[in-house]
Amino acid sequence: MTATDATVPSPPQDFIRTIVTEDLASGKHTSVVTRFPPEPNGHLHIGHAKSICLNFGVATEFGGVCHLRFDDTNPLKEREEFMEAIEEDIRWLGFEFNDKLFHASDCFEQLYAYAEQLITEGKAYVCSLTAEQIREYRGTLKEPGRASPYRDRGVEENLDLFRRMRAGEFEDGAHVLRAKIDMASPNINMRDPTIYRIRRVPHQRTGDAWSVYPMYDYAHCVSDSIEGITHSLCTLEFEDHRPLYDWILDELRVDCHPRQIEFARLNLAYHVMSKRKLLELVEEGRVDGWDDPRMPTLAGMRRRGFPPEAVRAFCDRAGVTKRDQVMEPGLLEHSVRDALNPIAPRVMGVLRPLKVVIDNYPEGQVEELEAPYHPDDAERLGSRRVPFARELFIERDDFMEDPPRKFFRLAPGREVRLRWAYLVTCDSVEKDADGNVTVVHCTYDPATRGGSAPDGRKVKGTMHWVAAEPSLPAEVRLYESLFTKSNPAEGPDDYHAYLNPESKTILTGCRVEPSLADATPGHRCQFERQGYFCVDPDSEAGALVFNRTVPLRDSWAKIAKQAGGPAGDAEASKRK
Ligand code: ATP
Ligand code: MG
Repeated sequence: MTATDATVPSPPQDFIRTIVTEDLASGKHTSVVTRFPPEPNGHLHIGHAKSICLNFGVATEFGGVCHLRFDDTNPLKEREEFMEAIEEDIRWLGFEFNDKLFHASDCFEQLYAYAEQLITEGKAYVCSLTAEQIREYRGTLKEPGRASPYRDRGVEENLDLFRRMRAGEFEDGAHVLRAKIDMASPNINMRDPTIYRIRRVPHQRTGDAWSVYPMYDYAHCVSDSIEGITHSLCTLEFEDHRPLYDWILDELRVDCHPRQIEFARLNLAYHVMSKRKLLELVEEGRVDGWDDPRMPTLAGMRRRGFPPEAVRAFCDRAGVTKRDQVMEPGLLEHSVRDALNPIAPRVMGVLRPLKVVIDNYPEGQVEELEAPYHPDDAERLGSRRVPFARELFIERDDFMEDPPRKFFRLAPGREVRLRWAYLVTCDSVEKDADGNVTVVHCTYDPATRGGSAPDGRKVKGTMHWVAAEPSLPAEVRLYESLFTKSNPAEGPDDYHAYLNPESKTILTGCRVEPSLADATPGHRCQFERQGYFCVDPDSEAGALVFNRTVPLRDSWAKIAKQAGGPAGDAEASKRK
């Protein structure tokens, strides 16, 4: 191993990569082709990110390719707008599909031809039971199913009906095409599953060309085969569908029969992950759109300021397993801090301002103090000049008139350091009629410019601050978890009951240092002592808006403990 190799993180190892390695070693495959197959009926979320990292990751590591395939077989729920957003999210996450962009709908003609082939060979039939009857006939886990009275329709009649279904002669639901497999199978998926249904609605890509659309289980394996996929990676709920996947491809005698391999879904505690529920949150106005920074969507995380490398690192940490995972948000935030710490410039912003007057500082004077953007890496990130003046703002929380013994910030008679500036001592305060402190009066020691005392005296507190003028007004949005329960989808009440009414706090009247004047949406920084922040798309010059990406310290362990959630995990990992 060379010196440079040592700095490249080794790719994750898991049972899927082991299978792929073996398949290449044995000569079963000479190259690897995977695919990520989203249905364009919503935006991507952190669970999809895991699947993307796995599919694109495996392809890249083994020198293969990964296709993006839109599983666009249900025109009622799918939209063009979602396709564009999905492509953008995948690129943002750091993966490139180049020209390997496919749609299940590209193969509608081939899918249809294969269906006629199944009919001709007596492996599929048109069933005219209602949806409810089909469910009833299907049986249960304990009881075998019963044959549909249409099961033994002749090939000619089936072909005729199927062609007329295609021609749009029948109402939705009048007939379906079913695979003829085994109504007594212990696996319900094998009890003559529906493979085509009538939907007389236009499709976003094929327009009015079709009145029948293939079902997911049928379209999926055939699309995999047509695209030459070698390893079809999907989530665990499809394990019981694998026999059907294999049955269809065996019966069609296709040349390419990919291997389906299942892995566990990734879930995030204090979130819902189903696209139906996420869509409800958006449509009911519970959040401000799919890219609301509280959403577990990639668009939301991007807006909140999560760097894509943090999302990838989190997915790698979650690993690829066979057991469903509920990950703590604290772990994701930990990855975010890890990614931001080396790159985010440190600046000062006061979220809840309290005015300070330095009584012995000349009126009208403003001096510029040199302040590095990063305490450990000033060379790489450089520095800026921060104006200091007679009137300043500090954080309201950083002052107490009657502090407890362990309070090391500003209080009457106490001396503290203003970061990069001077040591100042509090002399007196002004109050309003209700007794609230409105102004803190201090004196500064001119000999302490830069923040250290020549006589070597020590102060315990170092505080951030901004000059009253010049500084910039800003709005800051703080976020807490969207739900108060670690698994809101698991009841006993409907998930809406667990929405956190305090998930978003808007602070107006914040002040930030002038170096941020030109910060544009997406700009990330650390407000010293407050956390990492990112400029929101709502931001404008003169009216800056910041989202808090993450606080500086993990607050999840505590929250999870209060909520009695699977906090155990977060706590345990902290103890280790
Ligand atoms: P739906 O309920 O609409 O089917 P879905 O979340 O399964 O939603 P798809 O668009 O079908 O959405 O998902 C695309 C791919 O992402 C699939 O291969 C699916 O297995 C994978 N995927 C979806 N959710 C997760 C998750 N939570 N963890 C890991 N992979 C996921
Ligand atoms: Mg799905």
